[in-house]
Amino acid sequence: MKLTVLGASGTYPRPGGATNGFLVQEGETDLVLDLGNGCLSNLLKEAGFADLDAVVVTHMHIDHFGDVYPLFFALRFNPDEPWGLRLLLPRGGLQLMGRILGEDSREYLPRVFAVETISEGRDSRVGKMDLSFYATRHPVEGYSVRLEGGGWTMAYSSDSSPCPGLEKAAAGADLFICEATLPASYEEEASHGHLTSTQAGEVAERAGVKRLLLTHIWPTFDPGDIVREVESVYGGEVELAQEGMVFLLGGEEHGQA
Ligand SMILES: [Zn+2]
Ligand SMILES: [Zn+2]
Repeated sequence: MKLTVLGASGTYPRPGGATNGFLVQEGETDLVLDLGNGCLSNLLKEAGFADLDAVVVTHMHIDHFGDVYPLFFALRFNPDEPWGLRLLLPRGGLQLMGRILGEDSREYLPRVFAVETISEGRDSRVGKMDLSFYATRHPVEGYSVRLEGGGWTMAYSSDSSPCPGLEKAAAGADLFICEATLPASYEEEASHGHLTSTQAGEVAERAGVKRLLLTHIWPTFDPGDIVREVESVYGGEVELAQEGMVFLLGGEEHGQA
């Protein structure tokens, strides 16, 4: 499996960057986990929009789904009408997206996308990958994602304060993409729906993940400080997600694209 980081900033992008998004490619299958603002441009370097098999939106915050809009228009106005792209999102997500579209566009949303509602306990399959979802603790309904393919397991926290779902999603994963929005000293702020650095490290340690990829760090903070704080509580390998970074799971090493 090949994982490409499309966007790694929390809430708003660093200069030249993008907010949250990850492309997972296994065999002929292209799966996107979140598509925040700025991600589509990076996605199109790696895959054609008409070739995507599914897009998962973990929760309806703009830094996780902003670029589903330009993806919608790319599909909507393509003369081949490559419609029916699977869009997995929390309940009510498509209606929320439709609110800022004109009526003429809104009616195409459920034709361009084949919508599937995600919830805890309702597993899904994309290509040969099994997806399961675990409720997060965040101001809106959201889900951590656990992905299992041929000989590998990956997890993605989405946005969440500490909660049981994070550890269930990440248990024993080969790679855990985990938000670490704030430094350790910001525990009070994080309690409204995010993890501090040390909380992210503690989740990874308890879940026994083999490798930890930190993401969603607010651009106002020094990522180096966050990594050091995570390393004080987590004994495994820690890396910072950056746009263009590539990981190969299932026996191979990763590198920069
Ligand atoms: Zn976010
Ligand atoms: Zn959020």
